[in-house]
Amino acid sequence: MHPDLALLQRLPAAVLITQDGAIRYANPSSVALLEADSAQALIGRPSADFVHPLDKPRSTKRIQEVAGAEQAGRPNRAAEFRICTTRGHLRMVLISSVGIEWDGAPAVMMCGMDMTHQSEIQDQLRESEQNFRRLFNSMQDVYYRTDAQGVVQLVGPGVRRVLGYEPHEIEGRTAESYYPHSSDRDAFKAAILEKGEVSDFPGQMVRRDGAVIDISISSHALYDQAGNFAGVEGVYRDVTQRKNLERELQRLATTDMLTGIANRRAFLESAEAAYARCLSQNTPFVLLMLDMDHFKSVNDRFGHLEGDRTLAAFVHAVRGQLREGDLLGRLGGEEFGALLPGTDVHGGTEVAARILQAVRGLQLADLLGTRYSITVSVGLGTAHPGDRSLRDTMDRVDQALYTAKRRGRDQLALFEPL
Ligand code: GH3
Ligand code: MG
Ligand code: MG
Repeated sequence: MHPDLALLQRLPAAVLITQDGAIRYANPSSVALLEADSAQALIGRPSADFVHPLDKPRSTKRIQEVAGAEQAGRPNRAAEFRICTTRGHLRMVLISSVGIEWDGAPAVMMCGMDMTHQSEIQDQLRESEQNFRRLFNSMQDVYYRTDAQGVVQLVGPGVRRVLGYEPHEIEGRTAESYYPHSSDRDAFKAAILEKGEVSDFPGQMVRRDGAVIDISISSHALYDQAGNFAGVEGVYRDVTQRKNLERELQRLATTDMLTGIANRRAFLESAEAAYARCLSQNTPFVLLMLDMDHFKSVNDRFGHLEGDRTLAAFVHAVRGQLREGDLLGRLGGEEFGALLPGTDVHGGTEVAARILQAVRGLQLADLLGTRYSITVSVGLGTAHPGDRSLRDTMDRVDQALYTAKRRGRDQLALFEPL
């Protein structure tokens, strides 16, 4: 068999033909690969000159095998060799050889493909895969990926610490199983589908031990090559401690420390919201304002500390007369507001009467055992047509309270237009 030289000349693969180890023919691709000036510069040189010393024994053995009679005409399997070019550069070349006949004598034809670049890419791939693994295994957050149906395909080992499960227990199940409120999961899904990604999205999950934890998710949607939604990938982390701190801060900012009920700002905020709800749903409501009678004298007789204890006892008594959904807040000093949704003026009058009675009935005593009692004055009102906000109702109830004071205290007064 004689190779077609015209074909070899154009072949993008490097081709060398050797006889007794010396190069007899080199195509342009092999000249380029070996960085030689011309084919002529290679002719006559031993091909082994270009093989890295460590690869030489292997290379020599393979050449002998294909040149041998029993393997003649059958190319060997391609294998990688380190090749040194005429300029001393190293290349990684994938070479296959075959025994042929050249000018009537046995010869070996070697065909090589430069893999130098490919192996660099593979190294880079391997390195980035290793980096990903390291990150995946050590990260405090939980990495996860789901398919389009929400089935978890991959979850990081962080899930042991965060949820108390082994990754394999989670993989293959839907993420829904770990959400205490399906509404959380629905909100997350809607956000992902709408925006393609979410960051620091709040939610809750149930640990293996049943404890509910607060989580924060940052994720993006995955799409297949056709652009169809293919799943979600991201990380979530346990933010329970942060959330507890936020809840505590929120509580401190909205609670009156002495009495434990809503402070002025928090009461007005929730009362405005309840007011708006009642109006839009056509539900009756009443607003009460309470101011303790002659409270200065409690302070004067028993001291400010005893006054504080009395305030707390008073709030306890008032609260005992209210329902679950009623709002009670400290507007300032010894003045309080209560908004009763779903209660009309008639019902509110009864509640106020009960409050007056409960406060009168408080059996108070200072630290020395001196007994005393207190009373409260109450104003009551509700929305009137033409009101613009809760403020308007509050102003009327304030006037009613003033009326109760003027009429002798320890009583309820309703707003009566002059
Ligand atoms: P009136 O019947 O007219 O309401 O008489 P009053 O003495 O209650 O008068 P007013 O409502 O104007 O005064 C409120 C007093 O409540 C003034 C202040 O000494 C006392 N006070 C306000 N806040 C506190 C508190 O947090 N602790 C204590 N111990 N006393 C307070
Ligand atoms: Mg008072
Ligand atoms: Mg007052």
